[in-house]
Amino acid sequence: MSFSLTDEQAADGLAVARRTLELLRGVPEFGERYAQAQEPTTLAELAALPPLAKDDLNTALAHLEPSAEQGATWLFQSGGSTGAPKVGYAPTGFYMAKVFEHWQPLDRDDIFVNAWGAGRMWGAHFLAAGLADLSGCRIIALGSVTREEYPEWLGFLADRKVTAIGGTPSVLRLWFAHARAAGIELPSLRKVLWLGEAWQPQLEEDLAVVAPKARRHGMFGSTETWVVGSNTPECPADTFHTFPHQLVHVGDDGLLDFTSLDPAMLNPVLRYRTGDAGELTSCPCGRPGPAMRVLGRRDNVVQVRGLGLHIDELLARVEREPGVTRGQVVITEQGRRAQQVDVLLLTAAGAEPDTDALRRELLSATFTLSTAFVHDPEHVRVRVVDALVGNDRTGKTASFVVREAS
Ligand SMILES: [Zn+2]
Repeated sequence: MSFSLTDEQAADGLAVARRTLELLRGVPEFGERYAQAQEPTTLAELAALPPLAKDDLNTALAHLEPSAEQGATWLFQSGGSTGAPKVGYAPTGFYMAKVFEHWQPLDRDDIFVNAWGAGRMWGAHFLAAGLADLSGCRIIALGSVTREEYPEWLGFLADRKVTAIGGTPSVLRLWFAHARAAGIELPSLRKVLWLGEAWQPQLEEDLAVVAPKARRHGMFGSTETWVVGSNTPECPADTFHTFPHQLVHVGDDGLLDFTSLDPAMLNPVLRYRTGDAGELTSCPCGRPGPAMRVLGRRDNVVQVRGLGLHIDELLARVEREPGVTRGQVVITEQGRRAQQVDVLLLTAAGAEPDTDALRRELLSATFTLSTAFVHDPEHVRVRVVDALVGNDRTGKTASFVVREAS
C-alpha cells in the first residue's frame, strides 16, 4: 500500500489537487519546476509530481496569500521550529467539521479543558475549540499556565469534575506530573485529547495515579495540512486513521507526503512532506482500510562533528532508566562545530538516577559519541534538570535542541 485511498475513492478529490497544481505553477520562485507536470487524474500521476518541502509551502503562500470563501482567514505559525514565524492560513472552523464527521471523541456531556496554548499564532487551541464546538460540550479554555499556577488550577478542575482535557503531550505531562506531586486526583477525567507531538508512554504512569479512567484520543496533523487522521484508545498511539479528504502517500524512501482533497483548503498542500517517515498498515483495532503509522521524523538524526547522532535511539535508552520521565539532547555549537552534548533528564519526584553510570554507558554504546568525542569525552554530559529547554515561540519541547555557545 502506498496510498491511503484507492483511485476510485480519490477520483473526485483529485480535482482539488489539479487546482492546487495550477496555483503552484503560478509561483514565480518555482520557475520551471511544475512546467512539465501532468495534471493528475490518477494516483500514479499524482505520485509523479515533485514533493513540496516546508520552505516551498511558505514560498508559495507568500505569493498566493489565500483568503477564505466565507468568514475570516486566520494566520497561524507554520513550519520549522526555529527562526522567524512562517505563516499558514485556515478559515474559521479550521476544517474540523470534516474531522467531526468521522471522529467524535467528545459529546454533549463532556466538560472539556482546552490546555493547548492560545495566542502567538498557535493553531491547535483553536482547532480543538472548533471540534468541541461541534460536539456541543462544555468548554474551559485554559491555555497555558505558569509553573506556580498548576496546583490552584488543578484544584479548580477537580471541583468542576472535568471529563476531558487536551494538549500537546509535553504539556499534558506537566499537568499530570504536577497533579501527582500535589496529590490531586481527577477521577472524573475519561478523555485525553492530544496533538502536536508523539504520544509519550510515560504519561500512562501518571494517568494511572491521577486519572485512572482516562484514555487517549490522538490527532495527527500540522499547521500546513491541518488534521490528517485520528485514533482511539484501541489503536496504537503511533497509528492514525486518515480521513477521506486527506490523501496520504508513502514514497520509496519511506517519507510520508500529504495532499489535501478538501476544496476549502487554503494552503496549497500537494505532496507536502512534514519530514515524518511512516507506513500504511492495518490497525490492530480492527477498523478496516489502511491506517497511517508514523515512524518519527527522519530529521531526528543530527550531525555531530560529521557523524549522525540518532536522537530517538539515545532518548529511548535514557528514558528506560528507572526514575527518568523524559530526556532531551542539547547540542552546543561554536562556529557550527559541536562543542558539547548535554543529555538532560527530567526525573520523577525523589528519583536519583546514576548519571555517571548512564553517561559511561552512553559513551561506550553510542558510536557517534565515543568516536566524535574521543579526545574530549568530558564534553558529553548527563544531568538531571528541573525543566527541559522549551521553544517559547512554538510552545513545544523538542527532543533535541541545537544552540550556539554564548
Ligand atoms: Zn485503529
